[in-house]
Amino acid sequence: MKSLEQLVRKNIWSLAPYSSARNEYAGREARVFLDANENPYNAPYNRYPDPLQLELKSQLQKVKGVPADCIFLGNGSDEAIDLPYRIFCEPGVDNVVAIEPTYGMYKVCADINNVEYRPVLLDEHYQTTAESLLSVCDDHTKLIWICSPNNPTGNTICREEVLKVIELFQGIVIVDEAYSDFCREQTFRSQLSEHPNLIVLNTMSKAWGCAAIRLGMAFASKEIIDIFNKVKYPYNVNLLTQRQALEALKDPFEVDKWVRMLLVERSRVIDAFRLLPICQEVYPTEANFFLARMDDAQSTYNYLVDEGIIVRNRTRIQLCNNCLRVTIGTKTENNALIAALRQMP
Ligand SMILES: *Cc1c(COP(=O)(O)O)cnc(C)c1O
Repeated sequence: MKSLEQLVRKNIWSLAPYSSARNEYAGREARVFLDANENPYNAPYNRYPDPLQLELKSQLQKVKGVPADCIFLGNGSDEAIDLPYRIFCEPGVDNVVAIEPTYGMYKVCADINNVEYRPVLLDEHYQTTAESLLSVCDDHTKLIWICSPNNPTGNTICREEVLKVIELFQGIVIVDEAYSDFCREQTFRSQLSEHPNLIVLNTMSKAWGCAAIRLGMAFASKEIIDIFNKVKYPYNVNLLTQRQALEALKDPFEVDKWVRMLLVERSRVIDAFRLLPICQEVYPTEANFFLARMDDAQSTYNYLVDEGIIVRNRTRIQLCNNCLRVTIGTKTENNALIAALRQMP
C-alpha cells in the first residue's frame, strides 16, 4: 500500500477541520453550558449532539468487535460511500474500480465527484478475480469497491480473491458488507488490523431494521477514521438517530431472531420460485433478497404492480437481463407474492 499521505488529496491532508463548541469542550460534567449559542429551553433537543457519537460507538464496539476509534458513523452508508471520494480522489484526475453489476451509489458518487468509474464485469457466476480488478488499475486508481454479499446478485465475492486484492492493491479497498448479518461467511471487519488499506461498510438499514433512522458505519484503521472525522459535517448524525440506534443495540438477539426467520422464509420463497414455470433460475444468495431470472421480467413486474406487489426489476442492469430482485418480507407478504405469481395468467 502507498502511504496515506500519498493517497489522500493534498487539500484534505492539510485541512484544518472546523472546530465546534462541542469539540473544544468535550467534557460532560460542567454545570453551565454557554458556549454553543443554544437555547437553554426545550431539552433535550436544544443541545447539539455529540459530534463523535462516543456513547453509540462504545456500544457498537461490543456488537461489532471493532475498537470505537476505528468506527465512523454517518448519515446512512451513503455518507460513508461519498466520503472516500472526497478524501482520496482528485476530481478529473483520479479513478476508482468496482465490480459490475453492483450497488448503484458507488457510481453515482463517482459521477457527482467527477471521478472516473471503471466497472469490471463479473463472470457468469457473478464472480470476479483479483487479477481482473487489478488489471484495470493504474497510478491514479485510488479505490476499489467490492460489495459482498453483492447487490443485486446476492452472492458473496470469493474471499481469497478479495484478500488478494487487499494485499496487492496500492490504494484503498472498500468492502461493503451491508448484508453480512445474513451471510455465513466471516466478516472482513475482523481483518482490519492486518490490512491498513481496508475499509469495511455496515448499515443499520437491513438486518437491524432501522432504514428510517439513516445510520451507516465504516470500519477502518484509526488513521483513516481520523480523516473521515475531519471531513464529515460536524454534527452529521443527529440526536434522534443516535438514541434510536442505542435503543436497537440493546437487543441484538431480536436482530438474530429476525435474521433466522428471514433465512427460513428465503429458502421457502426460493423453492416456490424454482417451481414456477415462468422462472428460469434463482441465483445463490447470502442476503435478505434473491435474484431470479424470469422468462419475461418486465411483464411479470407489471403484473405484480397491478396486484399491488412491488419487486425490483433489474432487467436493464448488465448481466441481469430478465432478472427480478426480490426482498424477503414477512410470511404473509411472501405468501401474497407466491400466490399472485401462481395465478399469473
Ligand atoms: C442497502 C445498501 C446499503 C445501505 O445504505 P444506507 O444508506 O445505509 O441505507 C449499503 N450498501 C449496499 C450494497 C446496500 O444494498
